[in-house]
Amino acid sequence: MVKEQLYDRGISDGRVLEAMLRVPRHIFLGHKAGSEAYSDHSFPIGYSQTMSQPYIVGYMAEQLELTGDERVLEIGTGSGYTTAVLASLAHEVFTVERIPELTARATGHLHELLFTNVNVMSDDGACGWPEHAPFDRMLLTAAAKKVPKALLLQLADGGIFVGPVEREDGQQELVKLRRDGNEFSIERLMDCSFVPLVREGSASPGLAAGGQSERHGG
Ligand code: SAH
Repeated sequence: MVKEQLYDRGISDGRVLEAMLRVPRHIFLGHKAGSEAYSDHSFPIGYSQTMSQPYIVGYMAEQLELTGDERVLEIGTGSGYTTAVLASLAHEVFTVERIPELTARATGHLHELLFTNVNVMSDDGACGWPEHAPFDRMLLTAAAKKVPKALLLQLADGGIFVGPVEREDGQQELVKLRRDGNEFSIERLMDCSFVPLVREGSASPGLAAGGQSERHGG
């Protein structure tokens, strides 16, 4: 997986490659998943949600430019796999998931693998986690029409946000924002396909779109 799906496709941050060599992806899909867990696509994890494709996890982790000292906020814990990769690369990870059953399952797997630098909360992640702000890095793993303002306010000066947003044509793109005081610079990274960021009171999440086309599935 790491050689063919990450390294050969241009992921070159040695710390990211090493972290993804170490974190056992199959654990986050349940022990029966076996080697299929390492194949080149996103995976259904129940509740119409998906575990992100290995390439997109590696790509987003690389774009976060983690050196090991950062406090990271992740929105959309899902299976907990991306959380484990982030926890291997950063000082501390705070992760928020709106579906309590997924939160519980991910917490169990992260404990099983002895991660001690992860904090998991079941809530609407679009509000961030104000008690622990500011965060040096933020990763959103569900697509929003706009990056929620609460998240931008909780990003530290000099911090980096990576996540998918919906364009007007309905297509999603992965963007990278960098905060400089009250200014945010934006870099458009690639087209992508993530499940929607669900807000309180909005309709059901709909079908997971990951992995159906050449777009990279989150
Ligand atoms: N990185 C995860 C991908 C999870 S898919 C993995 O590799 O497993 C995106 C997740 O975002 C889903 O689990 C979904 O339930 C969650 N999500 C959607 N809207 C949310 C919200 N408002 N707050 C928190 N989590 C949300």
